[in-house]
Amino acid sequence: MLSPAEIATVNSRVDLRALAADLGAGFRGKSRVGRCPICGGGRSAQRFEIKRDGRSWACAVCNDGGDAIRLVMRVKGLDFRGAVEALGGPVKLSEAEREKLEAKLAVEQARRNREASIYRERERRRLYEIWRNAAPLVGTPVEPYLGGRGISWRLGELDLRFAVAPYFHGEEEDERGRKSPRRIYEGPAMLAAFVGPDGRFRGLHLTWIDAARPGEKAEIFDPDTGEALPAKKMRGHKLGGWLKLTKAGDWTRLCCGEGIETTLSMREAHYDRFGYRAAGDLGNLAGKAEATVAHPFLKTPSGRAQRVPGDAPVADSECMPIPSETRELVLLKDGDSDPFTTDLAMTRAARRRARPGLVIRQMSPPAGLDWNDVLRG
Ligand SMILES: [Zn+2]
Repeated sequence: MLSPAEIATVNSRVDLRALAADLGAGFRGKSRVGRCPICGGGRSAQRFEIKRDGRSWACAVCNDGGDAIRLVMRVKGLDFRGAVEALGGPVKLSEAEREKLEAKLAVEQARRNREASIYRERERRRLYEIWRNAAPLVGTPVEPYLGGRGISWRLGELDLRFAVAPYFHGEEEDERGRKSPRRIYEGPAMLAAFVGPDGRFRGLHLTWIDAARPGEKAEIFDPDTGEALPAKKMRGHKLGGWLKLTKAGDWTRLCCGEGIETTLSMREAHYDRFGYRAAGDLGNLAGKAEATVAHPFLKTPSGRAQRVPGDAPVADSECMPIPSETRELVLLKDGDSDPFTTDLAMTRAARRRARPGLVIRQMSPPAGLDWNDVLRG
């Protein structure tokens, strides 16, 4: 067993961003966001992030994150000891050195926790203001957007809203060197609220839409690189929450998908046979995996087998809650991501929720399609 101080000696010697880049993260310029060296990032490659502190990472698709040791474990399929050795092993510390370093680490950790909780609450309030001031969707550009995707059944019962919202990408620095998010675009957006297990507001899902072309998302480009950016963003505390799609719902029969349009396509086909909720992404739908497994044919840019999250769930990892009254749970699979990775994630999602009295089914669209394609087809 290594002490926390010895573990810190391993991590502190690593430049995490450089390590992630070596393992295949592929950052552009100075960006901290790139392709996930574990899962490849799913549909949107930009889902892997080195946190602001430079010492931890997170991937929204893997629903995983941690320090340099964990990254090496996940990417190379090593156990803890193996990853520590791969990073050069721990530094031997005297008892006095160990105590001193551990005290310092505890102070730093407490400070980081404090800052994170202040930031999280501030962001929650900011997002709640946007939500509170947004308009109910009927009669706004959200209505033709959904209509263009074949979704029109009892829209007044949906709890989606409309606002003209700013789009932030990257950071900018003012003359005093203070960094803040950089606003690169503003336009009409469909809003959905992330709520916690207690129903409390905790974040926003924003989809920027093209008001001139019903059913289409806005096209947003990075002003520096010209790269097309995702028209969706999730802000606030997503993990462990769910997207509230309808104002009310009977949760005894629950149908859950990754995205809003996917889940609403199912509602359009089945009306109120179910209650409908969306997870936002695969990570929040499936929860964290116990370990990664080698992909049968996908290779990383460096030529080794891509490792993807396996089907064994971590029982206490944060992910979308299923209400205790639910007796039937339908998990919607999206057909447009890598099938091997998605199958593992869906099995993990089902295993994670298994309990007596709950019937869990998975529904798959035809290969290469998502549920909205099926609805429109
Ligand atoms: Zn990943």
